[in-house]
Amino acid sequence: MKRRSFLKKAGLGLAAASAVAAPAIVRAQAPAVSWRMALSWPKSLDALYGGAEFISKRVSDATGGKFTIKVFAAGEIVGGLQVLDAVQNGTVECGHTANYYYFGKDPTFAFAASIPFGLNARQQNAWMRHGGGLELMREFFKDYNCYNIPAGNTGAQMGGWFRKEIKTVADLKGLKMRIGGTAGLVLATLGVVPQQIAGGDIYPALEKGTIDAAEWVGPYDDEKLGFYKVAKNYYYPAWWEGGTELDLLVNIKAWEALPKDYQAILESACADAYDWVLTKYDAGNPAALKRLVANGVKLLPFSNDIMAACYKASQEVYDGIAAKNAKFNKVYEPWKKFRDEQVQWFSIAENRYDNFMVSAQRSSQRAPAKK
Ligand code: CA
Repeated sequence: MKRRSFLKKAGLGLAAASAVAAPAIVRAQAPAVSWRMALSWPKSLDALYGGAEFISKRVSDATGGKFTIKVFAAGEIVGGLQVLDAVQNGTVECGHTANYYYFGKDPTFAFAASIPFGLNARQQNAWMRHGGGLELMREFFKDYNCYNIPAGNTGAQMGGWFRKEIKTVADLKGLKMRIGGTAGLVLATLGVVPQQIAGGDIYPALEKGTIDAAEWVGPYDDEKLGFYKVAKNYYYPAWWEGGTELDLLVNIKAWEALPKDYQAILESACADAYDWVLTKYDAGNPAALKRLVANGVKLLPFSNDIMAACYKASQEVYDGIAAKNAKFNKVYEPWKKFRDEQVQWFSIAENRYDNFMVSAQRSSQRAPAKK
C-alpha cells in the first residue's frame, strides 16, 4: 500500500513535469533533415520551377527551417528526363517531374500525368483524390522505390508549334515532332516521328530544323521558350494533355525515414503547390496568348478529322497495351470508367455554362449594347 501510493505520487510528479517540459523537448528534438530535389524543368519556367521552389519554401517555413529541400534545375544533377532514375536509385531524395516522361519503361506511368483523350485538370485531381487513382498509382510506383505525391497541374495544353500548316491526317506523315509521353505512341500510328526532348532543349532543335514541330505546355511557358520565333502555326488543343499532373517523386526509403509530422507537411505543401501551379498558368495564359498573336502567331484548331483519327488511334493503342501489360490494364479499366462518367457529368453543368459564357461574350463583342 505504502509502495503503491509512492508510485502513484511519483507517477503524477513525472506526468506533471513532462507536461510542462514537453513543448520545449519536442522543438529541441525536431531533427534537421536536408534533402535535394532534382527537377525536369529549367529555371526560366517560373510556373514549373516556381512550383518546386514553392514546395521547398513551404516545407522550410512550416518546420522552422529544420526540413530543407534544395532545388536543382534540369541538368544540374541529372537531365530533365532522368528524374525518376535519380529518385529511384537514391541519387536525390526527391524530384519534381511529369511522369509520362517514363512511358518507355512502362506506359502505366503516364496515368500519373496525362494520356491522350484523358482527364482535364479538375477530373485528374478528382480521380487521384477521390476516384482511387492515388492508391492505384502508389502501388505501381512502389516497384520503382518511389512514393508519388501530386504536386502541380498545367491545365489543358496547346497542341504546339508547326513550321507548316497541318490540314489533313496525311500531313502528319513523316512529321518529326517533339511531343511528351504516350501521345508519341498514338501519333506514330499516323506516321509522325515522335521525339522526347526536355523543355530547355526544344528550342535549338526546332530552330535548326532537326524537328518540324514541337509542343510544350501553353502560351505562358511557350512564349518564354521562344518557339514563335521559328514556327508560326500554333495549334490547339493538345488532345494528349487535357490537364497534365506533375508529381513530387520521393525515394521510398527517404519517405519512410521522415518523421510523421514532416511527411504531413510535405504532403500539404505538394497539395498547395498543385493549386499554385495550375492557377499560375490560368492567370498568366490569356495575356501571353495576346502577346503571341500580336507577334504574328497564327492560331489554328486541329481539324475534327485529325482529332477523330487520333481519338480512334488512341483507343487502339490502349487496347493493345492493356492486352499485354497487366499493370497498365489494372489502372486503365477503372480509369476509363471514371473518365467516361466525368465526361457525361461535365457535359451537363460545366460545359453548358462554359459554352454559354463564350457565346455570350462573342455576341456582345459583335453587337455593342444599344444606347
Ligand atoms: Ca506538353
